[in-house]
Amino acid sequence: MIGVYERNSKLYIEVAPDSEAHEHGLAVGEHRIPSRRVICAHCTGVGVVAYQPTEADTADPDFMADVGNGFYDTTCNECSGEGSVVEVNKKRLALNPALHAHFQAQGGW
Ligand SMILES: [Zn+2]
Repeated sequence: MIGVYERNSKLYIEVAPDSEAHEHGLAVGEHRIPSRRVICAHCTGVGVVAYQPTEADTADPDFMADVGNGFYDTTCNECSGEGSVVEVNKKRLALNPALHAHFQAQGGW
């Protein structure tokens, strides 16, 4: 994952001369990775994840009322509460053989 970063909702990779990415044929310097911002699948774009009550919790109506009011909801850790995540556009990535080869070798970003 070294060298891949997000800026203004777009993914970039900084390729160093001695890096694996350079060995895969990417020129030294910054490259834009085809990507797009999509709704977070984990929280469906809400940015929070509802508390999942245990069986013991369900025996306490007051606690369950608080659960229903979202008191125990937590910030989604997939999108850090933003409701969306940046995703690599694999179709467009395939058009760049060196970038695609590096992506495959890394097992994704
Ligand atoms: Zn999320």
